[in-house]
Amino acid sequence: MGPLASRIRAHATRGGSSDCGKLFDTPMPPSIDVRLESLTRSGLEAPAAALVQAQPSGQGATFYIETFGCQMNVHDSEKVAGVLLGRGYLQVDSPEAAKVVFYNTCSIREKAAHKVFSRLGEFRTRKDSGKIIGVLGCVAQQEGEKIFERAPWVSLVCGSASYRKLPELLDELEAGNHRVTGLDKDTDETFETEVTRRDNPYRAYLTIIEGCDKTCSYCVVPFTRGPERSRSSALILEEVRRLADAGYTEIQLLGQTVNSYRDPSSRRVSFAELLAAVAAVAGVRRVRFTTSHPRDFGRDIVDAIESIPALCDHVHLPVQSGSTRVLRAMQRTYTREEYLEKITMIRSARRAISVTSDIIVGFPGETEQDFEETMTLLEAAKYDGVFSFQYSPRPNTTAQHMPNAVPDEEKGRRLIALQTRQRDIQTAHNETLIGQTYEVLVDGASRRAGQWAGRTSGNRVLNFTSPRSDLLGQYIQVRVTHAGPNSLAGEQVI
Ligand code: SAM
Ligand code: SF4
Repeated sequence: MGPLASRIRAHATRGGSSDCGKLFDTPMPPSIDVRLESLTRSGLEAPAAALVQAQPSGQGATFYIETFGCQMNVHDSEKVAGVLLGRGYLQVDSPEAAKVVFYNTCSIREKAAHKVFSRLGEFRTRKDSGKIIGVLGCVAQQEGEKIFERAPWVSLVCGSASYRKLPELLDELEAGNHRVTGLDKDTDETFETEVTRRDNPYRAYLTIIEGCDKTCSYCVVPFTRGPERSRSSALILEEVRRLADAGYTEIQLLGQTVNSYRDPSSRRVSFAELLAAVAAVAGVRRVRFTTSHPRDFGRDIVDAIESIPALCDHVHLPVQSGSTRVLRAMQRTYTREEYLEKITMIRSARRAISVTSDIIVGFPGETEQDFEETMTLLEAAKYDGVFSFQYSPRPNTTAQHMPNAVPDEEKGRRLIALQTRQRDIQTAHNETLIGQTYEVLVDGASRRAGQWAGRTSGNRVLNFTSPRSDLLGQYIQVRVTHAGPNSLAGEQVI
């Protein structure tokens, strides 16, 4: 990883996957050791230097931020970094070198939340007590001031809806306060920042909707990220234009339920219209969006993908279970049949569209028969990738107290069976792609000369060989020569 790319350390919380918004579960084959090269730009797409001079409250103090969880968290960290840089703070690569250490946390499953507390535990015996340790994100929102009891060396706890207040919270600490919190959830703010310190030089994340109004019975998100708030279409497009001017060619629109987007402005732009408008911005070559909720996924989105080449041919449409009985208990608001109708609609598009999903196994009361229905749904949907998880009981959720918990051992058995079946489906499908040519955006280079990695529009990782030495950030035609379950390999078409 290059120096800037490593500044915001991000951790996967999905079973063997890249991250939570995440798309394909695509580890690299051992022969290709892919890393992001050093960023070629500063990663700042606003005049940060000017802001540093204008608002010097950080006065050169150093900060380190480590991110756990989904793409939304990764992007929140980019914005937090931008806010702090704009106030005169300097970003460093290690907690040891930092005056301010932030952990941007995830609480979607118990394991993810535990990881944060074990990281905080590392400070228990340290002597470098002059540091400010802050917990941001979902664990902060969920545990609130209880974090101070569990880790008394923490002095700042701040949920995602309050990040704009971070500089003021830090000022309060500098002024002598020992503990400060920002835990407001009832805010209309969608965390607009003057400066965002983006970590990927080619793909820019952009949150268009915050929070979630759905009530899935297993999920903490509505409690940790608050109610749904969409950004106005005009502000979104303004940011996309800035990003394109700064050289980003791929834009990824983010939201827990991105397609539930409702333009709060009088323009009332629909989600499909917004996709078209983003794709029309000069300089934008690819537009992705994640995560889509099946209930709000309509024909108009498929029509837009069919007719606009810049819209990537990939939809992440989590099903969670193949059993209507379990879906009802999960409060997912659709049946197995309704979900499969959406899949048929996507699969019948004139352009081949990759479909990926999230699945939870071992939800309370899930019988062997229910699980078998999930297995048959895999065959029916023929997903291009699946992120699968064992159900994890979470605080505040209605599922937490549901009877008939599935034993951990049985959850583990179901997870392995599901992953094995899905791996076979992906292997068989990927083999049919040998001989095809795809355009990839090159985002990785091997230490070995001539080996590169990129993503197709369908979000498949394609590792390839090329005699050229300057491919990072470029769009290249690649012919597939080999296929594995999680990635493809090929050679540049010269
Ligand atoms: N908003 C997205 C949707 O509705 O599909 C999902 C967002 S959630 C951050 C990502 C995934 O985590 C979910 O799709 C689900 O599969 C998984 N997940 C959420 N809560 C979980 C729990 N309590 N136990 C296991 N997996 C969970
Ligand atoms: Fe959680 Fe359901 Fe909202 Fe997704 S739609 S974030 S799973 S409550």
